[in-house]
Amino acid sequence: MSECIFCKIIKGDIPAKVVYEDEKVIAFEDINPAAPIHILVIPKQHIDCVSKIDEQNSKVLPDVFLAINKVAKKLGIDERGFRVIVNNGAEGGQVVYHLHFHLLGGKTLGSLIV
Ligand code: AMP
Ligand code: ZN
Repeated sequence: MSECIFCKIIKGDIPAKVVYEDEKVIAFEDINPAAPIHILVIPKQHIDCVSKIDEQNSKVLPDVFLAINKVAKKLGIDERGFRVIVNNGAEGGQVVYHLHFHLLGGKTLGSLIV
């Protein structure tokens, strides 16, 4: 997955404002924030999208959600509330094909646009 932009961020080949990192997960600021807090939380293991989650690679998902909670706590929105969004595939609005979880918060978010 050498051409994957998020794999390049994981390797340090492309800069990112990293807010959290552990063995399996990294979280960094979205380059085009849609809310006062907009973090992308991603597994270091390359998975294209939700549709490509299987019995094996799904084992990383608990680590992703633990990381989401750690980031929310670190940024002070764990009690205030936040939104987690995953876009999947073309009609789901996915642009980057490395599984990522948008963590949005810092204000009262509007209703979802469909
Ligand atoms: P999605 O539409 O769910 O695939 O979202 C991709 C997200 O990645 C968008 O919100 C982009 O702003 C964000 N993004 C793209 N390139 C970068 C980058 N180099 N650093 C941080 N965020 C990025
Ligand atoms: Zn990747």
